[in-house]
Amino acid sequence: MRQGQISVQSENIFPIIKKFLYTDQEIFLRELVSNAVDATKKLSTLSRVGEFDDDPATAKVIVKVDEKKKTITISDSGIGMTEEEVEKYITQLAFSGARDFVEKWKDKDPAQMIGHFGLGFYSAFMVADKVTIETKSYQKGSKAVHWECDGSTSYEIGDGKRKKRGTDVILHLNEESVEAYGSPWKVRQLLEKYCKFLPVEIEFEDKVLNNPNPIWVKKPSELEGEDYKKFFEELYPMQEAPLFHIHINTDYPFNLTGVLYFPKVNQALDNRQNRVQLYCNQVFVTEDVKDVLPEYLVLLQGVIDSPDIPLNVSRSSLQSDSNVKKITSHISKKVSDKLTEMFKNDRKDYESKWEYVDLFVKYGSLADEKFAERTKDIAMLKDTDGNLYTIQEYLDRAAVNQKDKDGDTVVLYCSDPKAQHLSIKSAKEMGYDVMIMDGPLDTQFASWCEQKFEKTKFRNVDGGNIDELIEKETTLDSVLSKEEVEGLENSIKSLVNETAFTIKVSNLSTHSDFISVSRSEWERRMDDYAKFGQSMPFGDLGLKKQNLVINPNSPMAAKILAKEGDSRSESLRYCIDLALLKKGQLQGEDLERFIAQASKLVD
Ligand code: ADP
Repeated sequence: MRQGQISVQSENIFPIIKKFLYTDQEIFLRELVSNAVDATKKLSTLSRVGEFDDDPATAKVIVKVDEKKKTITISDSGIGMTEEEVEKYITQLAFSGARDFVEKWKDKDPAQMIGHFGLGFYSAFMVADKVTIETKSYQKGSKAVHWECDGSTSYEIGDGKRKKRGTDVILHLNEESVEAYGSPWKVRQLLEKYCKFLPVEIEFEDKVLNNPNPIWVKKPSELEGEDYKKFFEELYPMQEAPLFHIHINTDYPFNLTGVLYFPKVNQALDNRQNRVQLYCNQVFVTEDVKDVLPEYLVLLQGVIDSPDIPLNVSRSSLQSDSNVKKITSHISKKVSDKLTEMFKNDRKDYESKWEYVDLFVKYGSLADEKFAERTKDIAMLKDTDGNLYTIQEYLDRAAVNQKDKDGDTVVLYCSDPKAQHLSIKSAKEMGYDVMIMDGPLDTQFASWCEQKFEKTKFRNVDGGNIDELIEKETTLDSVLSKEEVEGLENSIKSLVNETAFTIKVSNLSTHSDFISVSRSEWERRMDDYAKFGQSMPFGDLGLKKQNLVINPNSPMAAKILAKEGDSRSESLRYCIDLALLKKGQLQGEDLERFIAQASKLVD
């Protein structure tokens, strides 16, 4: 046995590594198992080029836990190492890798690191007091080698006892780690998390734990619908089947493979746990892909695998990395292509899926101009009878009788079909359609449509009397005299709180309500923006007043004018209450009074 001294400048390299990697300590197993897998794969490459004639296909990596000895052993039948190679790759290279890592990161915030590739072998010292290697190279005539290091800068190297080619890495767990990682269930859990799809079989407690040939490494032509379904179940057991999948298989100008699934997302932006998983050559890296994928794509599920996503960089530089940008836009394009294909091939089926795709398309359109451009012709609007139209289709339809005096096509929508039932009913009586836009992004989407589709206005159906929603050229005269109208206006002013209402007189048609209350489209949108956490572009201007519109042309107006004194005020009060009731806004004392009055009808 020979003693050696590791040439590192810093004596304190391990404490530093430990501190840096504390939060992500468990990756040691991923690193060591990946090394074992690499060594095994190198052997199959050698065999393919005729440099090795044993059969490497049976090779697997075996992980064992010995609770009594407090060890974890990772064994492979890969290429192994000669003594020179152990010196070169483990003592020198790996140490210098670790030292470079510390140099690079010592002034940085550890939270900025994603994945810790490159640290490799030395991550073992995060959990072990002592690491032993027993190895034997595949090369003919090589001798077995033993290497041992206690995490200080000195190590031992000499003859080993391994009989067959390959490597055992034995971790003698340190005190804290015995509890954290020393049990079979914990090791199994880590293997299942990080090694589930490694390309070589990983055996633990006599069972192979992984699937070395996940579907994303296969060609789409080799696969059937059932394979994609099964893989989804493997990734997300217990979850409802997805709507469709996209197979990504690109090797130029970057390497990207993966299968993405479109889950049945509902209208709420829920905080699902089951996200897209990021792999690097089949090694699990993270489920936290929000820096790699734009937020709307994070709603997808499945796997992406790319060796071209840099993992040792900070989040901000990741977002500006040119490969990441290309990968992101590639995925986004794949998704919109798939949606377009579905729309074109089977519109009925596409429509049946729209309720799930809806939020996603809107989110994507608002977040990503290019995605918006590609999906603008397949985004759908749904009317209150359940008919679906593309935006352009609907605009063409509405152009017939929903044009206002400026020549703009007015799309009427409701944000709460139940509460707005009466307004919807009167719009339909006029022969208008009403679209349902009750999703969390629909307010913003309406504004987006107004910008994208020329001469288009979106108006909430209860934003005013039906005559006011689609303003026509013709202005009606009042059937009442100026004095009569003023009289009505003054009586109403004395009945309502003028800080809550802006009172207006509008000569509407006879079938419009005598009194109506509404909020302007603008204010409604501001409120919606605020509800979803966006700041209002103009701040809170205190424009919380509602409009109270008096229509002198309603037959009710003349009837009330004919009444006098208390009887007139009582009737007016009743009309105001009815207007509020219609909008679901009759509350508190007003409601109490209204009920008392209505109860009299039964007496
Ligand atoms: P990396 O894997 O990033 O190269 P590591 O520190 O994990 O860095 O490993 C350093 C080197 O040691 C590897 O590149 C490889 O040559 C060698 N090595 C590590 N583990 C094994 C193993 N199980 N079998 C053969 N060689 C190994």
